[in-house]
Amino acid sequence: MSASLPTPLETTALKNDPKSVKIDITGGTGVEIVWKDGHRSAYSFVYLRDACPCALCDDERDKASRAPGEPPALAPGALPMFKAKARPTHAEPVGRYAIRFVWNDGHELGIYSWPFLREHCPCDVCRAARAK
Ligand SMILES: [Zn+2]
Ligand SMILES: [Zn+2]
Repeated sequence: MSASLPTPLETTALKNDPKSVKIDITGGTGVEIVWKDGHRSAYSFVYLRDACPCALCDDERDKASRAPGEPPALAPGALPMFKAKARPTHAEPVGRYAIRFVWNDGHELGIYSWPFLREHCPCDVCRAARAK
């Protein structure tokens, strides 16, 4: 099943305005957004979980100096622990400007606005642009 969300009003620039949003919760692949300027972004759920924009996760990333979407590093000498792959159990639109996920680890504070998602598009072109 994939859900279609309503697109926001034409108030923001086309760049931050999705033309279509596909969330594949059942398949577990992730979120695909085609923006009105033609750019296409594909986010894995793991990436989105690691990019959670809530204050709590933001603080945690800050302490570890991690970029949004970057997986947490293992402490030196630590054995990798089994962790269930992040995926949402539920996704819903927040007004016309964002999506909210309820994750399988119970976390549900993150509100992913369209500008945030566009800003953290994981494609090579956007990654390269951010690295500048
Ligand atoms: Zn969070
Ligand atoms: Zn991109």
